[in-house]
Amino acid sequence: MNYPLLNNYSIPAIDFVKGQGSYVWDSNGKKYLDFSSGIAVNNLGHCHPAWVKAISEQAQTLVHCSNLYGIPVQRKLAQSLIDKIGPGKLFFCNSGTEANEALLKFSRLFGKGESTHVVCAEEAFHGRTFGSMSATPQAKIQNGFKPLLDNFSFAPLNDIEAWKALVTGKTTAVLLEPIQGETGINVAEVSFLKELKAHCESTNTLFLLDEVQTGIGRTGTFLAHEPSGVIPDGVALAKGLGNGFPIGAIWINEKHVDLFTPGCHGSTFGGSPMASTAALTTLQVIDDENLLKAVNEGSKPWINKLNNLADTHSTKIKAIKGVGYLIGIAMHSDITKTIASLTEAGLITVPSANNVIRLLPPLNASNDELNESIRIINTILEKTTS
Ligand code: PLP
Repeated sequence: MNYPLLNNYSIPAIDFVKGQGSYVWDSNGKKYLDFSSGIAVNNLGHCHPAWVKAISEQAQTLVHCSNLYGIPVQRKLAQSLIDKIGPGKLFFCNSGTEANEALLKFSRLFGKGESTHVVCAEEAFHGRTFGSMSATPQAKIQNGFKPLLDNFSFAPLNDIEAWKALVTGKTTAVLLEPIQGETGINVAEVSFLKELKAHCESTNTLFLLDEVQTGIGRTGTFLAHEPSGVIPDGVALAKGLGNGFPIGAIWINEKHVDLFTPGCHGSTFGGSPMASTAALTTLQVIDDENLLKAVNEGSKPWINKLNNLADTHSTKIKAIKGVGYLIGIAMHSDITKTIASLTEAGLITVPSANNVIRLLPPLNASNDELNESIRIINTILEKTTS
């Protein structure tokens, strides 16, 4: 078949052509409950009316304008993020990997050419560009693309002694995800984040968080690290920020904003009027519809039901992992067939590592939809033999 796309994604079996709320439809008219949310992107669900209205109006007003000129809606978006995250400043880009590149460039500005050493987590995922890939110690991501950037070290998540051994006065930054979304839903413990931050302070090391997947309400707080009370030096955002319109961002703690000077970084498209409108409206809907509360209230009974499923199917399910609406069903064996059966039965999920089924409902999923996911998973597990 003369398929016109490069083969970095193998040829997909399904074309999606329409979405509404928590559902998507394929080109044959079949309806699916979408608990992938475009991999943690469509946090308001598909085609949320307020979001559609805002970007439609913006499309008729001003779509793009260079960052060499002021963009009022971008400034409003930045202020809204500052109000939610804390005193600091923003830079806007277009994706998660670009946000992490910007954090890595920030660490170079902080290191002033003297130190470049960055410590990241084993099993991290930070993206596919060269800096982010260098921070992602996975053979399947890195192979074929070396040499990468040097001076990265890696320690196991939650092993504070291993991190303390690597993070010294010569280290510029640590960069880590509060929950590793791509490699099995591994949660950084609150005590680990606190101790690591304290160690970073004592060694004059930047504490940088990649909240690309965990942020924008997915875990029931605006950012996933909030329960730790730790204040980062920089945060990377993307995915859910625009609810599907591409936008990434870094928030930089007010302590460091003077390191950014005219010309040191930039982006043609980053924070365009369209992207900023999409993101600002996403944040407004999260507030207006009380979606953090919705995640907290909706996730508790849903996770309980998932844990009950784990008890019922203990020969197949190893554990339920994660927080809020970033949940993994860790299985005893490979999940490829189970994911295909769930899809066939009308539930879209997404793999995380080889044996974890990732569930990412929209933040406004209804109880009926959450229960529907439990029913479908149970039916499929009853049918599968291993
Ligand atoms: N960081 C994390 C934690 C991610 O989960 C991802 C994507 O899955 C990225 C960075 C890269 O984001 P993007 O695909 O938008 O470049």
